[in-house]
Amino acid sequence: MSATASPSAASAPVSVLGLGMMGTALAAAFLNAGHPVTVWNRSPARTGPLVAQGALPADTPRDAVAASPLVVLCLLTNDNVDALFTALGDSVAGKTLVNLTNGTPEQARTLSARAEKFGARYVDGGIMAVPQMIAGPEAYVFYSGDEEAYETHRPTLAVLGGTKWTGGDPGLAALYDLGLLTGMYGMFTGVMQALALVRTENVGAEEYAELLVPWITAMLGGVPEIARAVDSGKHLTDVSSLAVSHAAFPNFLSTFEAQGVSTELFEPLQVLLDRAIEEGYAADGMSRLVEMLTR
Ligand code: NDP
Repeated sequence: MSATASPSAASAPVSVLGLGMMGTALAAAFLNAGHPVTVWNRSPARTGPLVAQGALPADTPRDAVAASPLVVLCLLTNDNVDALFTALGDSVAGKTLVNLTNGTPEQARTLSARAEKFGARYVDGGIMAVPQMIAGPEAYVFYSGDEEAYETHRPTLAVLGGTKWTGGDPGLAALYDLGLLTGMYGMFTGVMQALALVRTENVGAEEYAELLVPWITAMLGGVPEIARAVDSGKHLTDVSSLAVSHAAFPNFLSTFEAQGVSTELFEPLQVLLDRAIEEGYAADGMSRLVEMLTR
């Protein structure tokens, strides 16, 4: 892994384009760490609070890019970033563009190729934090793309939180990011369904959450075992088989129906379990579903 000599973290200038909730938190973190920060936002009014904290406002995206070797982008979508790239053109030549906008692996690869064409270095990132967590101990960011550019600017990027390198394919940070968010949405899907179910009998959500949180936490302890089975391809289990889940699952769907709770979130899992049994995986554990899903 090669590392180019980098300026000391606090003296390195950085430009932040996009000052929504997240971009504002990123710019404030750089400012708090002592960096000279130039900011640009489509709606100029949003630069006000950061300028009051010492940031320099740029009138145009090109001015913002010209101000620093490191340019951090945080817009709503990668379509917005793509349009910004068109406006910036080759003004980005020689710069490192770190795009922390949420997007897909394919979008990151396309943006990387475009940046390279304009003579810039591209690093994609996935922020694993909400704005209030930025620069705090729990926050971290996945990065991928141009490794030398990443290493050069890592001392500055580390201001935002932990730095996790995922690889030279620019799409990898988005893949890791979306994977974790997939796990999160899956968990919240179950939480929402459980609360919808018990409230049909007037069980308070807060009261039930006291049971739900330790239960889900305990179940998460089984994830490493599922992961081991996925990696080894050995899915036979002596804990809980797909046959057992398949036998119990109609109880969930019929209870949702009987209690007047929508089944739309959980019907797909019934379809997958039915297929697992049909294909002869009754004795396997949940890990088998990972293989079935990736076919
Ligand atoms: P906001 O809605 O608060 O801000 C959106 C930003 O994008 C604003 O600066 C907005 O400018 C800008 N923008 C929107 N459309 C355009 C456009 N066509 N051209 C130029 N600028 C545009 O969103 P967040 O700051 O919360 O999120 C920004 C990114 O960070 C998203 O991709 C999000 O998924 C990601 N993220 C956010 C997290 C969060 O908890 N908030 C967590 C992790 C990642 P304007 O002010 O002019 O509207």
